[in-house]
Amino acid sequence: MTLDTTTTPPAAADGAGRGERARTARPVQPAAGALRGAGLGEVTLDGGFWGTLQDRNAAATLQHCADWMERLGWIENFDRVAAGTTGPDRPGWQFSDSEVYKLLEALAWEHGRTGDPAADALFEALVDRVLPAEDPDGYLNTCYGHPGRAERYTDLSAGHELYCSGHLVQAAVARLRTTGEDRLTALGRRVADHVVREFGPDGRDGVCGHPEIEVALAELARATGDDRYRVQAELFVERRGHGTLDPIALLGPAYFQDDVPVRETEAWHGHAVRALYLAAGAVDVAVDGGDDELLEALEGQWRHSVERRTYITGGMGSRHQDEGFGDDWELPPDRAYCETCAGIASNMVSWRLYLATGRVEYVDLIERTSYNVLATSPSADGTAFFYANPLQQRVAGGDVLPDAVNARAEGGVRAPWFDVSCCPTNVARTLASWHTTAAAVDGDRTGVLLQYATGDVRLTLRAGELHLRVTTSYPDDGDVRVAVVAAPEGSALRLRVPSWAGGAELTLPGTGTREVAPGWVDVDALAGGDELLLRLPVQPRATWPDPRIDAVRGTVAVERGPLVLCLESTDLPEGVALDDVRVDPGQGLRDHGDGALVRARADAAPPSGSGLPPFGARPAVVRPGAAFDLPLVPYHRWAERGAATMRVFLPTS
Ligand SMILES: [Zn+2]
Repeated sequence: MTLDTTTTPPAAADGAGRGERARTARPVQPAAGALRGAGLGEVTLDGGFWGTLQDRNAAATLQHCADWMERLGWIENFDRVAAGTTGPDRPGWQFSDSEVYKLLEALAWEHGRTGDPAADALFEALVDRVLPAEDPDGYLNTCYGHPGRAERYTDLSAGHELYCSGHLVQAAVARLRTTGEDRLTALGRRVADHVVREFGPDGRDGVCGHPEIEVALAELARATGDDRYRVQAELFVERRGHGTLDPIALLGPAYFQDDVPVRETEAWHGHAVRALYLAAGAVDVAVDGGDDELLEALEGQWRHSVERRTYITGGMGSRHQDEGFGDDWELPPDRAYCETCAGIASNMVSWRLYLATGRVEYVDLIERTSYNVLATSPSADGTAFFYANPLQQRVAGGDVLPDAVNARAEGGVRAPWFDVSCCPTNVARTLASWHTTAAAVDGDRTGVLLQYATGDVRLTLRAGELHLRVTTSYPDDGDVRVAVVAAPEGSALRLRVPSWAGGAELTLPGTGTREVAPGWVDVDALAGGDELLLRLPVQPRATWPDPRIDAVRGTVAVERGPLVLCLESTDLPEGVALDDVRVDPGQGLRDHGDGALVRARADAAPPSGSGLPPFGARPAVVRPGAAFDLPLVPYHRWAERGAATMRVFLPTS
């Protein structure tokens, strides 16, 4: 079978091509709290950094994912279950269904964002294939419970059945919020009902080896008003941490976060994506259940883990063997795993914590991770991806096959698809709805600008619409112009000054220019016709790593605005090796396009004066030559000019 997308008519849409319902739809809608994120239609990006990424996602990535899953038989798995012909030779990992569901979610948000009939047609074509594979009791999984396959729920540690169900439920929530009830949302409810029957208070006392069902059920409860789903999510969160999951080979309870209950956990540990999906679901459960103790524990975990177990890019995961967090200060740049999905999951946690608390540090981390992990993964044409995002590449590329299924693209070249291909569809669903985290509404009268991107912001406040026109080439340039097109009486605006932006300035009509400190700045008494200018100092700056991070002691990183920069071998002078470069940021950093120039020398000599004998090979260069300028480029664009060696942390002279 192929995906025939030509016969399904587009859904009813408003004048903008988008269903009216989708205007305020968004992925996360807590049941309690004064803050809400922007709706899909309340922020419209045109061009700029994020608008371009969203357009490319729509034009290339969505179809790319569908094509690969068709080619590999992951969609046909549903046809074979429906036809009763699946068996031992089923292609794909046990969790491949979830990639189809994440694509469905991406298509639902994309259709809600733009009203694009092609996104809707692809969505319907996929639903045509998924729906017939449902069992009569609401169980849906192409890997388990069919002739020639293992029985249902016989491997909770590695089976990913509830994980897959969770992603289907998230797709159903996206569809419900953007379009309304339809056959996919009905399927999502039946699958969730099956989970509640099987794993409810009187059911199996189990959890899934890969969290995801928690965050999905919590959101389904919000979207449908059916509290059973929230209660089930809470049950899964509380059941975890009691060692019920069998080890997978050498991976024990800590890998699954089944070693310590969530509310007793001090720092994120084990498999990073698992830890972060679990934390996201736990924040939802804490907020909707009024569980302040749990929320406080999660804020503590965030603080500890971000201070001591997170890379400068926002990347999380220091170990390859379990795709997991390391110990405090264990942050090797060359062995950084920093899976793209972990960055996405980190944003999921931070966004929920922002909505719950209003604290600026959560939004600061979302900015860091969005620019330096999320945006790093997709290639310039949206059809190849990084899975791991190391901060240093010692061997240039070479292990990636074009037009083939790859391992995890650890060799520094983006790959079209992976054996475990969680990242591309995760990028797709995240980019399609990314702009809903760019602005927020606080209470009845305050609009909040969280991320700066060119476009229109039309936030519905109690007294009417606050319409702002944002013009900026951020992050290339730090000037952000906010024109107030219309503001209801008594409305206010809150702006985020990023943590790195010391010396930022705000110009307001009538009152002139003043310096504004990192954090929030409030502007009252807005009126149509006002124009504000926020000037963020994006010039390059050197950042010293905490000396407790042994792996990067004696080095410096260079950042420019929200962008982490890196040095690629592509930019080295003739005859200079990447390992021999020593930089001197004290000589001044200069703007260089959207990157920087740093003074450097080739000098591999050991530190002088120790008087101790050296260990290892003799340095290639022992007498530094003349200093030269080295261009540094944004990390998110690395390897776009071909395979290269690369490093973010640069040794100092
Ligand atoms: Zn992934």
